[in-house]
Amino acid sequence: MPEGERVPEGDPVPEGDPTLVGDPTLAPDDVEVELQDDREPEPEAELDPEVVARRDAALAHVRKFGDPVLKTKARPVEHFDDALRDEVRQMALLMDDALGIGLAATQVGVVHRLLVYRVGSEAPLAALANPAIEWSSKDEEIAEEGCLSLPSVHVDVERPVHVRVRAQDEYGEPITIEASGLEARVIQHEMDHLEGVLMIDRTSRDQRKDAMRILREWQEQQRSG
Ligand code: ZN
Repeated sequence: MPEGERVPEGDPVPEGDPTLVGDPTLAPDDVEVELQDDREPEPEAELDPEVVARRDAALAHVRKFGDPVLKTKARPVEHFDDALRDEVRQMALLMDDALGIGLAATQVGVVHRLLVYRVGSEAPLAALANPAIEWSSKDEEIAEEGCLSLPSVHVDVERPVHVRVRAQDEYGEPITIEASGLEARVIQHEMDHLEGVLMIDRTSRDQRKDAMRILREWQEQQRSG
């Protein structure tokens, strides 16, 4: 599939290039905890109805649990053109409207290695293409994460507190990010999406069981309208 081609919703996704192996430090088998991220807990009752409407409209464009694209390994970004920068802008708008703090291209059905995040409403937008973990701390911490693709689910995920990530910006310029705490967590969560890994793949058995129940109920609700 050409880079950036959108995968139709719900369609089977072709296998990714097996040569594209992610950083082994992030391989799910190596990690005994589970991850998730993307969404800051927002007490809905305090949200302006307009904000809620905008959020729901944005969320309708985000692929949800059960969509095979979320299990797909994304391919490298090769072309740093206007189309890519437009994609970054669209993803940022969607993320902001959805009240998320991170979004991976696979979550909008584009299987290439691009993610955006903004940690804190005043923070600048960050766009990372082809991110790779160069170093992560032995120091790990557990925190609760949410995910725009997993409605109503929050799970505890243990992750390295500090990471150094090599990537390219939307113009193809090499960048290095040193991140800690929430920023490091968001980057790692979004990078997992590019590997087809979800936070429920990384959480404890008990929490995964609860999450699956919530997700099945959600799917049931969607089906019954
Ligand atoms: Zn997510």
